Amino acid sequence: MQALIHHFIDNQWMASRGDRRLAVTDPCRETVIAEVTAGAPSDVDAAVAAARRALPAWRALGGAARGAYLDAFADALGARRDELEVLSCRNNGKPRAEAAQDLDDAIACYRHYAGEARALDERQGEPVATGEAGLISRRYQDPAGVAGLITPWNFPLVSSAWKLAPALAAGCTVVFKPSEVTPLPEQALAEIALAIELPPGVFNLVHGDGQGVGAPLTAHPGIDKLSFTGSNPVGEAVMAAAARGTRNVSLELGGKSPILVTEDADLDLATELVLAGFCYNAGQMCSATSRLLVHEPVAEALLDRLDAAIGELVPGDPLQAATTLGPLVNAAQRDRVASYLALAEAEGLQGMTPAISLPEQGHFVAPRVFRDVSTDSRLWREEIFGPVLCARAVRDDEEAVALANDSDFGLAATVVAGDPVRAAALASRLTAGNVWCNTHQVAPPGLGAGGMKGSGIGRELGRAGLDAYLETRYVTHPA
Ligand code: NAD
Repeated sequence: MQALIHHFIDNQWMASRGDRRLAVTDPCRETVIAEVTAGAPSDVDAAVAAARRALPAWRALGGAARGAYLDAFADALGARRDELEVLSCRNNGKPRAEAAQDLDDAIACYRHYAGEARALDERQGEPVATGEAGLISRRYQDPAGVAGLITPWNFPLVSSAWKLAPALAAGCTVVFKPSEVTPLPEQALAEIALAIELPPGVFNLVHGDGQGVGAPLTAHPGIDKLSFTGSNPVGEAVMAAAARGTRNVSLELGGKSPILVTEDADLDLATELVLAGFCYNAGQMCSATSRLLVHEPVAEALLDRLDAAIGELVPGDPLQAATTLGPLVNAAQRDRVASYLALAEAEGLQGMTPAISLPEQGHFVAPRVFRDVSTDSRLWREEIFGPVLCARAVRDDEEAVALANDSDFGLAATVVAGDPVRAAALASRLTAGNVWCNTHQVAPPGLGAGGMKGSGIGRELGRAGLDAYLETRYVTHPA
């Protein structure tokens, strides 16, 4: 059995000083497939020291040379496609097609920021009008410093790409802590850094949990910039840690996103988008559209179609090509979702019982749709992170928008409407960082991703995703 008890620090495999070991599991077979160290604060010290030593030379290298390393990262990920897809399937439980999509997204992200690194060189020193006679100013962008990056388990390889690629493009050096739940796909990133001869100390990977590595990393005074993706309680702890030393922080947190379906919508498309919005990755998506707001005249028809579409899902071994629904990532996550299902029962909610039979082994949960859920219910308001949809019929667009925006979160939304002008008008009124109209939840690297309100601070991807790792300097002088 593989033992991930070494960190990748200064391009060396360094034994963890932590005593605790955690099981890494296959959620379909319910087997332990590896163990990982929980890490220790002194491991973090070593990684931060390496990243600080590497910072001046990495910064001085310039965007073009850094971009070449990012292209090499993308090439190396592509070259290991089969192995990485299988690791994602086994460690996370993702169906193979979804693991392939993740890898494509990660590769596209490294490729995109290779270009952004080169473009950064070209923008350095660009003149800025001062509005003052005889004075000119030039704008420069410098790396924010050493970045501490922490990711969750639901999209390993993707959520790390969204941080690593822009951080390295910007000229930051990094200490990366992947989720202790899915360390296997992420371990490959360190192997790739070594294979492409990234300079020592630029990319450091420290395995561990929140106690062993996460909290010590966020508290470390040698970290200039923190970027965290995960749950709200931990995000708030990260932000509190960043306050000490007034350090920059980006947060990508939870969501409870709405999907609006109008009475003129194409119901086949609506069914497809509603289903994917709460069943892709078995619903373990921060951007899951888990609140359905459907116009009354088409509510019954849509729910009937949805029931039929759920019945066509193929739960099973993620490695089998036919599988479209994998297990939840582990027993803890399955239990968490089960507690919400128990709550639905206690509230007497009407839930469609899906005609779908689950494998006997594995942490599978059948998709559930609850109707007329009270807007006060925890099921309506809290992130469940499983294949559970709460549905309400609405009278008109006004009611749909009001209910959609009545949330502590503001990450994403989908609008399905027959009239594209109406869809755009609805989108303009939604409080969400990303709104998809009549299309799936795409996140190409040129756009931004991130949320409003409780869903976080800042944006990943796009130019904003690069700016998150840069400091801006204006140099002003007489013309
Ligand atoms: P989590 O918050 O428990 O853990 C996330 C990461 O933080 C893990 O690497 C974990 O080890 C680490 N961590 C735990 N305690 C820490 C501490 N005190 N200090 C620093 N780091 C600590 O979340 P999870 O269970 O891995 O992921 C699920 C959650 O993540 C969901 O709530 C989901 O909405 C959210 N999420 C958000 C986005 C987004 O883009 N907005 C994306 C994916 C997941």
